Amino acid sequence: MGIPVNIAVGSYIWIGDPELSWIDGMVVNINGEEAEIQTSNGKMVVTNLSDIYPKDAEAPAVGVDDMTKLSYLHEPAVLHNLATRYEICEIYTYSGNILIALNPFQQLSNLYGAPMMERYNGAPFGDQSPHIFAIADVAYRAMINERKSNSILVSGESGAGKTETTKMLMRYLAFLGGHTVAEGQTVEQKVLESNPVLEAFGNAKTVRNNNSSRFGKFVEIQFNNSGRISGAAIRTYLLERSRVCQISDPERNYHCFYLLCAAPSEEIERFKLGNPKSFHYLNQSSCYQLVGVNDAHDYLATRRAMDIVGISEKEQDAIFRVVAAILHLGNIDFAKGEETDASVIKDEESKFHLQMTAELLMCDSHTLEDALCKRVMVTPEDIIKRSLDPLGATVSRDGLARTVYSRLFDWLVDRINISIGQDPHSKCLIGVLDIYGFESFKTNSFEQFCINFTNEKLQQHFNQHVFKMEQEEYTKDDIDWSYIEFVDNQDVLDLIEKKPGGIIALLDEACMFPKSTHETFSQKLYQTFKDNKRFIKPKLARSEFTIVHYAGEVKYQSEQFLDKNKDYVVPEHQDLLSASKCSFVSGLFPPISEENAKSSKFSSIGSRFKLQLQQLMETLNSTEPHYVRCVKPNNMLKPSIFENDNVLQQLRSGGVLEAIRIKCAGYPTHRTFFAFLERFGMLAPEILAGNYEEKVACKWILEKMGLTGYQIGNTKVFLRAGQMAELDARRSRLL
Ligand code: ADP
Ligand code: MG
Repeated sequence: MGIPVNIAVGSYIWIGDPELSWIDGMVVNINGEEAEIQTSNGKMVVTNLSDIYPKDAEAPAVGVDDMTKLSYLHEPAVLHNLATRYEICEIYTYSGNILIALNPFQQLSNLYGAPMMERYNGAPFGDQSPHIFAIADVAYRAMINERKSNSILVSGESGAGKTETTKMLMRYLAFLGGHTVAEGQTVEQKVLESNPVLEAFGNAKTVRNNNSSRFGKFVEIQFNNSGRISGAAIRTYLLERSRVCQISDPERNYHCFYLLCAAPSEEIERFKLGNPKSFHYLNQSSCYQLVGVNDAHDYLATRRAMDIVGISEKEQDAIFRVVAAILHLGNIDFAKGEETDASVIKDEESKFHLQMTAELLMCDSHTLEDALCKRVMVTPEDIIKRSLDPLGATVSRDGLARTVYSRLFDWLVDRINISIGQDPHSKCLIGVLDIYGFESFKTNSFEQFCINFTNEKLQQHFNQHVFKMEQEEYTKDDIDWSYIEFVDNQDVLDLIEKKPGGIIALLDEACMFPKSTHETFSQKLYQTFKDNKRFIKPKLARSEFTIVHYAGEVKYQSEQFLDKNKDYVVPEHQDLLSASKCSFVSGLFPPISEENAKSSKFSSIGSRFKLQLQQLMETLNSTEPHYVRCVKPNNMLKPSIFENDNVLQQLRSGGVLEAIRIKCAGYPTHRTFFAFLERFGMLAPEILAGNYEEKVACKWILEKMGLTGYQIGNTKVFLRAGQMAELDARRSRLL
């Protein structure tokens, strides 16, 4: 997209570059619609005038701390500004009221210490350099002064720094709203210590991040009338269940498994554990240890954090007993039985692990064996026990492991919530959202579908907010903004969640119909959405489909959609564990009432997630939002490397470029009368000589230059895209 620019020979400019995304240079010759450019890396390039973006030759060498201070607001300028700042370890930059946070991949000294907290405490926004504390401070002041709830939405791709950022936010809020004297544990201590507990059970090493959160999290911190933290609630979203049984090299399973294998010897003895390499759920990958992490130390640290959040010694023992049971469960192998299609426990070793699993879960080992190897079939005539073949038994085993683990995780979240306690009288809260960013991989399954659905929802919320804020600024200055166009992503949301007829609804239908396969489901999608602009059936595809998301196209493989959408616990597993002699284990599997058993024959993960999102959006809509966009400057996870195309892609997915587009659709450049005259007064020396009012003088200059479409407000000049460049070009001719 070219903006009408007045480019002359000698102008500094940006042009697209296949390697660097953008390269700067100078115009050396203009020939009709074409310009000859000398680039800063020594090349001569000929390009169309409409592909040229002006470069501000007077931009400060250290960059600007807010994108809105850029003379030219466009993609190359935004990118260059971030790169310039990253080089000097300035990782935070504002783009209006969005905070962009670049992951430094190194500990920056003194950036988060107590003196820094003091510095931001109560400082007017913009006085200090951009910082995550400044955002938390604004949210806190707004809550105190306006008695309105606030929220801070942290997003970004895996490894971009969301969780670290969230922890800093929570620490700063605890600093502002904490109690100085306390008996026992304070609420804020419990809130902070919930992080290591949830990380031990919900984080794992992935290729993108050594400590990747495999769940979404919304922490609601409640404050009392005097601004002190009085309660909190943690909501989690979609824990990745498949990881419990299946990992690929060089990733790891959830941290807790490795921590437990490094526990003190009496625990190892009691749970019959040992080298993690001996467990099937861990040895599918050759990665066991993490650089800079001591599992033995972290085991004790997790135990201490559990103490603080109020999980009793007895409960902790039960939790780790269940974790150990899952490891043993994974080592039970099956062999063909004598009857056709039947299976038996493979060998003595497997029998040992079966025995251990039963012992640790405190259930009957024969019932466990049956629950793994057989299914009860209810026919109109009879109830029969059908055998599963070895493959079926293995699937049954893994299903049991996943169910137990996810129930354990949910229990932890519930327990932490109970222990922290809610303040029923609190009228104000600050919500902090740490949720997975937009994902597009080589293969994308149901998880990516849900994650990207979340991001569409948040994007809509974000767009609406950015748009509203722009409007407010215009209104303040009495500017007419009514014709600014605003592209919504409601159509993608309809495609996904509309009821009836959206993808989630069709998926639920397919799950309830016994004969459905992923192919019949896909055919149904192709038929229903053949004219939908946001849906593409890839050529020759039989079960793939593409959604045109706001951040780009994503191709989904539908093979596992049906299975992954079914939230189903095998009745045999349910019966086995609800009969456990351990009250902790049986508590994870409360008996299902007759009524429930009938009505909830099918419960869908997709629909439940949709409902959770709806509730989240309702909460967010009742708050004043603040946005933090975390960006991962490179995929090597190394400091000081800034990859242009990589960063641009994230700015696009995070809506930063969209926010800028919204700005550009209106009046991207706002200048106070004084600043405007300082820069452009020379275009009309006659007016500077006279004693005119600032506003009149600005108007005079704009008219003299023959510009149209700009607006003059009460305090500022509002310029359309390209007009700043036009004025600069005129000015440079005079210099
Ligand atoms: P995400 O939650 O977005 O997946 P994390 O917050 O876990 O990413 O960050 C990944 C890693 O990046 C961290 O383990 C840490 O090493 C590094 N990191 C992130 N933010 C910072 C920061 N502000 N300062 C130093 N290192 C950071
Ligand atoms: Mg994380």
